[in-house]
Amino acid sequence: AILTERLSATLRDVPDFPSPGILFKDITPVLADPALMRDVITAMLAPLRGSGVTHVVGVESRGFLFGVPMALQLDVPFAPARKPGKLPWKTARESYDLEYRSDVLEMHTDAVGAGARVLVVDDVLATGGTAAATCRLIERLGGSVVGVSVLVELGFLHGRAKLPDRAVHAVVTF
Ligand code: 5GP
Repeated sequence: AILTERLSATLRDVPDFPSPGILFKDITPVLADPALMRDVITAMLAPLRGSGVTHVVGVESRGFLFGVPMALQLDVPFAPARKPGKLPWKTARESYDLEYRSDVLEMHTDAVGAGARVLVVDDVLATGGTAAATCRLIERLGGSVVGVSVLVELGFLHGRAKLPDRAVHAVVTF
């Protein structure tokens, strides 16, 4: 079957997680299928061929699971963007607004310097706030953002509207 069909059959919809009314896309069944995982990593990299990516930044925490194998495949450094207080060394932070609160992401200040051409990776693009904040943080550190690559895009939440002028790539859109 084609990859989008295999993914649709494998991703698990969990109602009312993490709060009532939310239908959560559970990616753990994808992680449990090595053949599918391999094809997913290849598909997430395909649109970036030839774009000169020098660094992959993965967004806490499920972005790490896809970002690290992509960085290995590209043979480039991986750096994590993390929730506040997790990174041990000097950090820069960026806050972003969620529906009823705001949240913060941090990166080490030496993670992506001037000249870095960075690919941002996460599992799911929902409202786009997380990915947009990660892009701003990378640019504040001197890097440029080559693209944003996600496994799943929840199109009805219009995350791309928060990422104008960014190259956003999703393997499957719901
Ligand atoms: P956004 O900032 O785009 O609204 O939310 C994206 C962030 O929330 C990502 O880091 C993603 O991991 C997480 N997220 C939001 N909805 C889902 C979902 O349905 N499934 C998974 N696995 N993650 C989600």
